Amino acid sequence: MPVERAVITHAHGDHAHAGSARYLCSREGERVLSTRLGPGATIESVDFGEPVSIGGVRVSLHPAGHILGSAQVRVEHRGEVWVVSGDYKTEPDPTCTPFEPVRCHTFVTESTFGLPIYRWTPQREIFADIAAWWRANRDAGRASILFAYALGKAQRVLAGLLGAECGPIFTHGAVERLNRDYRRGGVPLPATGYAGSEPRGRDWAGSLIVAPPSAAGSSWLRKFAPFSTAFASGWMRIRGARRRRSLDRGFPLSDHVDWPSLLGAIDATGAGRVLVTHGYREPVVRWLLEHGVEAHAVASRWEGEPEGEPAGEEEAHEGTSAGGELETPEIE
Ligand SMILES: [Zn+2]
Ligand SMILES: [Zn+2]
Repeated sequence: MPVERAVITHAHGDHAHAGSARYLCSREGERVLSTRLGPGATIESVDFGEPVSIGGVRVSLHPAGHILGSAQVRVEHRGEVWVVSGDYKTEPDPTCTPFEPVRCHTFVTESTFGLPIYRWTPQREIFADIAAWWRANRDAGRASILFAYALGKAQRVLAGLLGAECGPIFTHGAVERLNRDYRRGGVPLPATGYAGSEPRGRDWAGSLIVAPPSAAGSSWLRKFAPFSTAFASGWMRIRGARRRRSLDRGFPLSDHVDWPSLLGAIDATGAGRVLVTHGYREPVVRWLLEHGVEAHAVASRWEGEPEGEPAGEEEAHEGTSAGGELETPEIE
């Protein structure tokens, strides 16, 4: 829905839409937002914690730790403070400023993985697994095709492989464009080559190719054969998710909080009231009510695959639906 002034938590397609007159985002996120919205967008940016006044309300952005530039929005009016989380995670991530808990009266939290079954494996184990998978493929004379959302996850995976014996690394154009924004923002990434500028008939055995999930099953992949495929996503935690996509491997790596971190983050705000949106709302609301916190589920306009976006290129909140009542998945 186009508005006069859109305050942006981060540049993923389910949180930032083209068509508004003006945008406000964090300084750190300006470059990727501009890449996503296109050259016509009017974007203003502020440093984290720097207040601006919008219609008599004091608004400031605070790091959300989700992707480069991701922010929570703090809104203050006559001593009443609300914080809207956007997507967030508390796990360390060298590609963005770490999540910062912000004290507030009302906290509006996302709940993408808001079920007790979601508990992430320590990321260094995941990166070690990715490197081991690449090594096995190299030894077998295959290329390794790693699918990861083009904005955020791809760069986090690359940063996690910095210094590992893994590569040469090549990228799909959608990933390479954003790598450029991250590098210009000062984020250290390993060297990557754009797969599209390599000569025809090249031997790809032993290469790691990072591509958006939309490239899975496409004819673009053919030239890399023989290859093994894998997907880095929190959804790979769910039993059957890897097989449904016909992938050889799934690496459960998420840019969202898992269940314990979600509850910890809510607690750290000190909020007396919590509004839960964007994911598994009901289980989170129920848990909070049982523990004496006022909580409500709030429907969000954008859940599931964002319409009008190149399929799979966005960080899709798969597995969630606007209905809010969801089947409990089984864990792999
Ligand atoms: Zn997101
Ligand atoms: Zn989202």
